[in-house]
Amino acid sequence: MIKTGGEIYRVKKIRTHYFFLKVMTGYDLSKRRIPVMEMESSTKGPQVVLTACMHGDETGGTVVVHELFRILKRSLRCGKVLAFPILNPFGFEITSRRISISNEDLNRSFPGNINGSLAQRIAAIVMDNIIKRKPDLVLDLHNDWNKSIPYTIIDNIDDSVVLLNLHRYARISKLPAIQESEKISSSLSYCLNVSGIPSLTFELGESLIINEKNVVYGINAVLNILSVLDMLSHRDDLPGFELPQEVRNSILTYSAGPVCSRSGILRFSKKPGDLVKKGDRLARVYNAFGKLTETITAKQAGIILGHNDYAVAYPGSPVMAFGVHDS
Ligand SMILES: [Zn+2]
Repeated sequence: MIKTGGEIYRVKKIRTHYFFLKVMTGYDLSKRRIPVMEMESSTKGPQVVLTACMHGDETGGTVVVHELFRILKRSLRCGKVLAFPILNPFGFEITSRRISISNEDLNRSFPGNINGSLAQRIAAIVMDNIIKRKPDLVLDLHNDWNKSIPYTIIDNIDDSVVLLNLHRYARISKLPAIQESEKISSSLSYCLNVSGIPSLTFELGESLIINEKNVVYGINAVLNILSVLDMLSHRDDLPGFELPQEVRNSILTYSAGPVCSRSGILRFSKKPGDLVKKGDRLARVYNAFGKLTETITAKQAGIILGHNDYAVAYPGSPVMAFGVHDS
């Protein structure tokens, strides 16, 4: 506190702390660790956890964390923000979605097992660290197909109170809100949600490289949420991703269909962000002689979230992901 001419001002202090969670010791005795960033205001308040680069080739969220910490150093009014900027250092090193040395998907290994596989052990360490802190919200930052729009995924959970809370945060983020259709019971966000800790997943455009525009959408989404939680020294109402009028303000349902049923070369007729009606042509498949073998059409009206990274089609290969109106 500072006294000036009888007036008393409380001096806000912000403490930043960087540390590691130990994962394992390498064959060469190197320490394998997960970096953690923590920023805490001297004024008590909510606690928000950010996780990024769970899939090692998805580095956009890491940059969102770095930029947010620069901003919060000046503007965190109260509470604490904890961040795991690179949750999968093994995959990050070789630009792989999976944990390189065990070839496992970390986000299909929760809640984890400290005596299980490498991915399950890492999941258990991360899960334990987050749960014991009892955060108010966890935001898991991911990236999607190379051609995709940013959006937030709401887990398909049964707890209506947590679900309502997630819908609210999704709207505040100003990212397109997509309700997951399946129960992904081994993901971090699902396991946190069923433990009563609200958790949203952000898909912030393409993997592999940093798309600065999508980094801004990610930063704005987090700051809008921190602002509503009253954690910032000023009120933020930052712009989000603008959806077409027809689907704006609605919560859409994730759909991965239809898929290819023939082999060949996949050529798209629509792009991410386009609205489609039932029956609209999405893509065509051609064989090695250039003959059309399949025309893929939309099953439901909705918006295209992203399309496949590859031109090679085979029976069952994905074409596009959609946000559709629940029917
Ligand atoms: Zn991911």
